[in-house]
Amino acid sequence: MEHPDRFETLDPENWDEMRRLAHRIVDDALDYIRTAHDRPAWRPVPAAISQRLEQAAPRGPSDPAEVYEEFRRDILPYPMNTAHPRFWAWYMGSGTVIGALADLLASALNPNLGGGNHVAPLVEKQVIGWVREMVGFPADSSGLLTSGGSMANFTALTVARNTNAGYDVRHTGVAAAPGPLTAYASTEVHSCNPKAIETLGLGSGGLRLIPVRDDYTLDLEALRRRVASDRAEGCIPFCVIATAGTINTGAVDDMDAIADFCSSEGLWFHVDGAIGAVAVLADNVRDQLAGMERADSIALDLHKWMHIPFEAGCVIVRDRAAHRDAFALVPEYLQREADGRGMASGRLWFSDYGLQLTRQFRALKVWMSIKEHGLDRFGRMIARNVEQAAYLGDLIEAADQLELTAPIGLDIVCFRFNPGGLDVESLNRLNQDILVELQESGVAAPSYTTLNGSYCLRVAISNHRSRLEDFDLLVREVRRIGRQLAGADSL
Ligand SMILES: *Cc1c(COP(=O)(O)O)cnc(C)c1O
Repeated sequence: MEHPDRFETLDPENWDEMRRLAHRIVDDALDYIRTAHDRPAWRPVPAAISQRLEQAAPRGPSDPAEVYEEFRRDILPYPMNTAHPRFWAWYMGSGTVIGALADLLASALNPNLGGGNHVAPLVEKQVIGWVREMVGFPADSSGLLTSGGSMANFTALTVARNTNAGYDVRHTGVAAAPGPLTAYASTEVHSCNPKAIETLGLGSGGLRLIPVRDDYTLDLEALRRRVASDRAEGCIPFCVIATAGTINTGAVDDMDAIADFCSSEGLWFHVDGAIGAVAVLADNVRDQLAGMERADSIALDLHKWMHIPFEAGCVIVRDRAAHRDAFALVPEYLQREADGRGMASGRLWFSDYGLQLTRQFRALKVWMSIKEHGLDRFGRMIARNVEQAAYLGDLIEAADQLELTAPIGLDIVCFRFNPGGLDVESLNRLNQDILVELQESGVAAPSYTTLNGSYCLRVAISNHRSRLEDFDLLVREVRRIGRQLAGADSL
């Protein structure tokens, strides 16, 4: 029943109260970021809270101020504190303040970036153009903002498969291939790529993992041999994935050499640049990325080393028609007038270039962040992290009982505490315990990896708030905890 005075919608019952709450939320959000360093780099979620977070959905309404109080009590204190200056886990970004505000605006405007004639697609187009220029691709390349590197890689590998299969995969499917379609990457390739190849119907064996050299870059000779033997056995090699910044150690494959190889073999050259591609902005990295601009496609993350709030990735494809051919499928209810009038006009339908139809306005946080800071400042932040990685490496080499476990790639430092005299297993366990103690202390949040059987601490700096003294503190704490645990062990 409609009552003229109380017509039910999802809007606030009291806009003035909601406005006051909104101002408070913005204040609290800014305070949260500004004081992130005062809170632990990580803290576990108490059991009482995780239990509350299993309750069933309420059937009735609550006051929005009460909902917000619940947020303040149960959610705000237990974050993944990526804004902390000593948050160095996995490979993240530390956020931009204007990016957070842009997300609020994007949700307030709430456009759908699948397509249509409105302003938001023009913003996404501009942002993609900026990225395209950064990575040195031609003006008629296509692109798409994605949730992240995983979807960017998936999108590019789909185009690669469809383009190089030699028949209409979309129509006939992979089962009709005259031989196994095979892609190539180093053993250090990020796990989202095997996931993509599996999802593309090629099986996990469809991605050949090529050995790496001592510096963790792809061994080109091994690649050459494997492609030749695969061809001899009737496989259909279609793509090589080079990594610009591996997740373990930040290694950058020799992209010029891989580009040469791909062009001589007629293979699609894809770059997974989730970590390193945006480092073309940094004076002390750019040269390492030579050859990236020769790729057929490139996947990169803006929410890692560019610090845009999650989620923000991007894929750029040199051959626009091939990109569109892989994804465009237009049913009657989405038919549009390319040059006509009205909301369904215009040629800019991003849903033709990926899996998603409905898409969020993630371009806005990228657009506002780049406008505020300019690309050069992002480049300086990246360059500083690379210098900090070298600084941390020097500290580790100068400290007894600490040792680097891999060459430092970009901003990723792998090391361990080694008091000597321990077998591999005990040494691994000791370093696992050090990491957990360090994380639980809240002082710093590095993560870990295992290289050639050695468990090590892994510091992926990618943080625009880290200072040199943060690394001094890290080294001090690792040695203190290490000595304590090693001493306790020998009792
Ligand atoms: C993080 C990462 C990915 C995956 O990107 P998401 O943004 O997490 O989806 C792919 N490749 C590399 C090298 C990465 O570091």
